Amino acid sequence: MIIVVKRDSTQEQIDHIVALIHGMGLRTDVSRGIKRTIIGVIGEEDAVRNAPLAAIPGVEEVVPILKPFKLASRDYQAEDSVVDVGFGVKVGGGSLAMIAGPCAIEGREILFDIARQVKAAGANILRGGAYKPRTSPYSFQGLGEEGLSILREALVDKYADILQIGARNMQNFNLLSEVGQTKRPVLLKRGMSATVTDLLMSAEYILAQGNKRVILCERGVRSFDSSTRNLLDLSIVPNARGQSHLPIIVDPSHATGRPDLIPAMSLAAVAAGADGVHIEVHSCPEKALSDGPQALLPDQYAAVMGQMRQVAGILQRTIPAPRGK
Ligand code: MN
Repeated sequence: MIIVVKRDSTQEQIDHIVALIHGMGLRTDVSRGIKRTIIGVIGEEDAVRNAPLAAIPGVEEVVPILKPFKLASRDYQAEDSVVDVGFGVKVGGGSLAMIAGPCAIEGREILFDIARQVKAAGANILRGGAYKPRTSPYSFQGLGEEGLSILREALVDKYADILQIGARNMQNFNLLSEVGQTKRPVLLKRGMSATVTDLLMSAEYILAQGNKRVILCERGVRSFDSSTRNLLDLSIVPNARGQSHLPIIVDPSHATGRPDLIPAMSLAAVAAGADGVHIEVHSCPEKALSDGPQALLPDQYAAVMGQMRQVAGILQRTIPAPRGK
């Protein structure tokens, strides 16, 4: 539930409400908005369901949140969350995150080459997997820590550190709680058979630990049609945005697995209101150690960026300008 505090309430009254909730064995999350201050009650609500909270001085209203996720819900926070990932890059609130790079970090030279080219096309976040939990134990599993050190070096001052939780780990609840205890932005990818509620419940695990910097990511769900890798569910963009204040981006690369489909789905993602688009780019896909067949060439990426910029412009949203090579 959330407790709406009266407009003219004092800090002492807010502290008193918080102390009472803590005394019932529950945690709180105080959100001071422009229009109102609300106190989120975190924990098993049975303990407070019949408590006369509305009688406490300073309380305007006690609102039960019927959805299973609370901190992630629009009821809790009406305004869109904007996740500041550092170095002037923001995700949400009209700024689009243009994430590009290879599936996996394979070496210094190739990552630098791709980084330079996607940056020139306007990408503002570089991706590259270091730990790759793959479906097959025989597939390339990533360079691990060595990969991370190359990523850090490639970005230098543009280093915007976001932790990605892959689709297969979306319901690894211990991992979600761990990243919730960090201060780093978290890109949470939708599990391959997760409902929108499942995705928002996983986000709730991170938020409940105090980390508010969560970005959702649609990357396709399982379908009966084997002609694409997954089925891109673009309806989740307005669906999730209606229920949650968290930004949501779209990954057409893993959703389709096909370079011929990625440009159209990227444009559709921007049109659907996505807060960013995540595309795998490789300068030599035939030599890629993972997901080579679905990677766009840097020139193809630059072309689709130009088209996405036009669609974003119609909707009064901004995609970073190309920066030349
Ligand atoms: Mn990949």
